[in-house]
Amino acid sequence: DSRIGVLALQGAFREHVTSLQSLPGVEAVEVRTKEQLDGVDGLIIPGGESTTMALVAERWGLIPELQRFTRELQRPVWGTCAGLIFLADRAVGTKTGGQALLGGLDVTVARNFFGAQIHSFETRLTAPECLLHAPTAVAGQPTFRALFIRAPAILETGPGVEVLARYHLTPEEAAEDSSRPASVVVAVRSGHLLATSFHPELVGDARWHALFADMVRETIKGKQREERQAREV
Ligand code: GLN
Repeated sequence: DSRIGVLALQGAFREHVTSLQSLPGVEAVEVRTKEQLDGVDGLIIPGGESTTMALVAERWGLIPELQRFTRELQRPVWGTCAGLIFLADRAVGTKTGGQALLGGLDVTVARNFFGAQIHSFETRLTAPECLLHAPTAVAGQPTFRALFIRAPAILETGPGVEVLARYHLTPEEAAEDSSRPASVVVAVRSGHLLATSFHPELVGDARWHALFADMVRETIKGKQREERQAREV
């Protein structure tokens, strides 16, 4: 079994726990302390309010621990919405001011990218190949429900960052500001990191959770392989 933690300082963490519990072979754990973090194989950083989440994490002394987990130990981490902002190397846009970012994901993210015009909306986007084979209730569906809540968008991706989903701006959205790109990235994978602008935990599509659980399982297998090799030397 793999133990997957959900950072439970603030925001939509319970829904992630519920989604994880729908998957076989996965144990979901709420994470609020260093000890709890030490006990999990992977971590989800949920949506919420990234400034508040960073402040709480700072007050509880968790920032260095989270950085160690993500960057040194290279454990799998999935950030949704505010969690994506938290993982990003660079954040721009409204109300970005001095909040601590964990970093590690080589992207530039724009906070509240969709927020100026619509706070919250849902659409269907093309599912990436890696989502099509997930053994869940909606397996094989070529699109997925993407729910955006004051969501960030990814404006730039560094080398090694794989784009999993894109959102194409409507003519109205594009007309609002001529400096806006025709499309933005809303889901990426980069090595042990996964990040999405939208909220799969709120629409009953566990395929993203299944994908992350696979990433965690792969990491555990890799670690066991290393340990075996170390013993044989
Ligand atoms: N707008 C929020 C932020 O900047 C993110 C919103 C969300 O996580 N649903 O932190």
